[in-house]
Amino acid sequence: MFTLIAATTNKNKLIEIRKELDDDRIILKSLADFSNYPEVIENGTSFSENASQKARIYFDYFKKPVIADDSGLIVEALNNEPGVYSARYAGPNADYSANNKLLIEKIKNIPEEKRGAQFVCIICFKDENDEVFFKGVADGIILTELRGKGGFGYDPLFYIPSLGKTYAQLNLKEKNALSHRGKALRKFEKYIRGKLNIQFSQV
Ligand code: IMP
Repeated sequence: MFTLIAATTNKNKLIEIRKELDDDRIILKSLADFSNYPEVIENGTSFSENASQKARIYFDYFKKPVIADDSGLIVEALNNEPGVYSARYAGPNADYSANNKLLIEKIKNIPEEKRGAQFVCIICFKDENDEVFFKGVADGIILTELRGKGGFGYDPLFYIPSLGKTYAQLNLKEKNALSHRGKALRKFEKYIRGKLNIQFSQV
């Protein structure tokens, strides 16, 4: 069996990761499975930098293969805000509701055709030999009012025109099928299956 640690305490992210990485050979753990682990301050200037920092620190600590996801929302009309500050847009301890409120406040006078946005997810995998990155991007439009009850974070404001729904109106399978994280995870899944096929064929 292959133990992989997802370097996150975010339950929603973990649910999405578990759903996508469905391989009997992988035992997926998260930081929630451990009582002691270092705190990582995400102060990088890019998603890759943050993902790499988390992956390295937790690999050094656990000495087991790690995946770290760093993700966020990029709104062109807002000079690519909130970007790497997505989790703390409205302040260091801001919750999802405060961040959504601030985003609505900033976007409300911008016409819909200029409210295009991208969700970006970078997954960094790190083990004793490799450090590899996987990227997923999803395009949408930012709404000026919350729509839907599912998901987390900015999901109720991220509208997918081709579906006529926000992320928050999709079930897990539907969200993963087109989301930034789902896309990055499928690239990672392909990579890790290849690695495991080699590893297990040598046993
Ligand atoms: P991270 O935990 O540093 O990667 O911060 C990611 C932040 O971006 C989260 O706290 C959310 O605010 C936002 N975010 C990332 N992925 C999603 C998603 O799938 N839906 C909604 N918000 C997301």
